[in-house]
Amino acid sequence: MRRILVTSALPYANGPIHIGHLVEYIQTDIWVRFQKLLGNRCLYFCADDTHGTAIMMSARQAGVSEEAFIAETQAAHERDFADFGIDFDNYGSTHSAENRVLCAEFWKLIRKAGLVKSKDVEQLYDPEAKTFLADRFVRGTCPKCKSPDQPGDNCSKCGHHYSPIELIEPRSTLSGAKPEIRTEPHLFIELEQLHGFLAEWVESGDHLQNEITNYLKGHFLGEPLRDWDISRPAPYFGFEIPDSPGDYWYVWFDAPIGYMASTRQWCDRTGEKFDDWWRAPECEIHHFIGKDITYFHTLFWPGMLKTAGYTLPTKVRIHGFLTVDGEKMSKSKGTFVAARTYLDHLDPSYLRYFYASKLSSRVEDLDLAVDEFVAKVNTDLVNKVVNLASRTAKFVETIGLSKKYPDDGGLFAAAAAAGDEIRDAYEACDYSRAMRLILALADRANPFVEEHKPWELRKDPARQGDLQDVCTVALNLFRQLVIYLAPVLPKLAEQTGELLNKPIERWDESKTPMVGTQVAKFQHMLQRVEEKDVHAMIEASKDSQSAPGELASASGDTTQWSDDGAALAAEPLAPECTIDDFTKVDLRVARVIAAEDVAEARKLLKLTLSLGGDNTRTVFAGIKEAYQPQDLVGRLVICVANLAPRQMKFGLSEGMVTACGPGGKEVFLLSSDSGVVPGQRVH
Ligand SMILES: [Zn+2]
Repeated sequence: MRRILVTSALPYANGPIHIGHLVEYIQTDIWVRFQKLLGNRCLYFCADDTHGTAIMMSARQAGVSEEAFIAETQAAHERDFADFGIDFDNYGSTHSAENRVLCAEFWKLIRKAGLVKSKDVEQLYDPEAKTFLADRFVRGTCPKCKSPDQPGDNCSKCGHHYSPIELIEPRSTLSGAKPEIRTEPHLFIELEQLHGFLAEWVESGDHLQNEITNYLKGHFLGEPLRDWDISRPAPYFGFEIPDSPGDYWYVWFDAPIGYMASTRQWCDRTGEKFDDWWRAPECEIHHFIGKDITYFHTLFWPGMLKTAGYTLPTKVRIHGFLTVDGEKMSKSKGTFVAARTYLDHLDPSYLRYFYASKLSSRVEDLDLAVDEFVAKVNTDLVNKVVNLASRTAKFVETIGLSKKYPDDGGLFAAAAAAGDEIRDAYEACDYSRAMRLILALADRANPFVEEHKPWELRKDPARQGDLQDVCTVALNLFRQLVIYLAPVLPKLAEQTGELLNKPIERWDESKTPMVGTQVAKFQHMLQRVEEKDVHAMIEASKDSQSAPGELASASGDTTQWSDDGAALAAEPLAPECTIDDFTKVDLRVARVIAAEDVAEARKLLKLTLSLGGDNTRTVFAGIKEAYQPQDLVGRLVICVANLAPRQMKFGLSEGMVTACGPGGKEVFLLSSDSGVVPGQRVH
């Protein structure tokens, strides 16, 4: 029996859980349930990540204390997780007494090892929001590859890790202000002292996926490791550093220690020994994380654990991001779906199964295509798995299963033998392979039922024995599939236990058929997913994002709103004008009634606009790279209707259509909410 401690990354206490987060929690929960089903001693710990400037700003905005703010978020997180069947052994908070004690212990040992030094730091300060700016509140141009609009810590284009002060043209995402540079002493951990150890750890054993090992060697370990800035001056919501009053540990110092604090809470509750889990070489430690936090979990964290004398991670299991229909999740498209919104419309089993069917052991993004989601749930789960029970259970409701397992042509034995391969796929986190193997078994079980037609046997009183045998086979094959699916679909496993009067408790139960037991009245197990419910969920996600309350509460969360000051900075505001100046410009709603390419011009389309009645005009618009002429005909635009006509090379332009964007393909025509008619003026 293995002893295994498992964690998922701590969700930040600044916003709701969404379906992107759930990729990781569902992936981890499946692995933990699988280990428990095998009979291993496996524990799953997590906590809310509660510190940092973002929490401070959000609490300020909501007009409550930070403690009240994080308590409310945590309660919502825990409800969402529970309703998705994610079963933690303990769910804590980084703002806990246990975490404070552990942080102090780590700090003492890191100091003692001579890894801490003080250096003056130029930090960005937002003069409007009156706070130092955490990395996530600064965006600007990458100093290495010059990609614009990059986050404050590392570049999403080239992966370069930098200090926000190095960004070209930085902007505060809190206020849009240009930050000031202020100098303060900060405390640093000299990670370079651990370089040899980390290089060896990254390459030894199989702690990391190959692509991650190569990434770390190529990007970080090939040069001296940077000192890690570990303190933040007040104001900051976090733990004050005991031997450095007025300074707080940076959120990334105390967050991973939160895994241990959550373990500590569990130990205190159960009387278990903490060191049996964090200082015992035979105990495995597995961290599940997203690829965006690789650096922290594969360099800083092992360095901290090593220095403090704790067990190093057995494996850091890294996954990619969720896309929906091939695109980044988007609030305007309604694909940024909160966990709660999903639960209001759909069964959590669907998402658990769908993610399982897509997840591999590689660091790949995972796409949720709506069509595929509907088809997979209905074809795989309802038609192939649940149907085995729904078509047979009712015929043996009164007589139960046969006393002796009938001849099934070797189906049960073959599926039992496939168990080891399925187990290995789960172990490797290659769930998509596990699901394929399981569904292949379902594809062999279903023809058995179709051939033996229990619905016809039941009509012949002389063949009741055969009927019982056929149903005994079908229900055993069904139960075998459900045992294999139990880590993914705990609710279906529970329902199956009730149906056959024996709970599913061990993986090995897949090797022995059940005989002679009673069969309960069949209850509906899983509804087909209706496409209209998926669309209703997407619609509801569109609605909630435009509610003014949520706008305010989400404004500090740069993972959802990453509007920065770049566009404004690229084109500064024009000098002030009066209302009279403004009313000189007559903006009108117009309908595009014809649109054609101007072949000789690189950028121009020729548009015929109607202001209603027979009032039409011709306008040349520089939108050719962004729009196809046929897509414009019929749509409403906003035009400058009283602009003096201008003679162009290709004809007379009698106005202008309004649009935004830097140009080229990035041109976006203005339009109004629905209800307007051509000729109406913009006021
Ligand atoms: Zn870059």
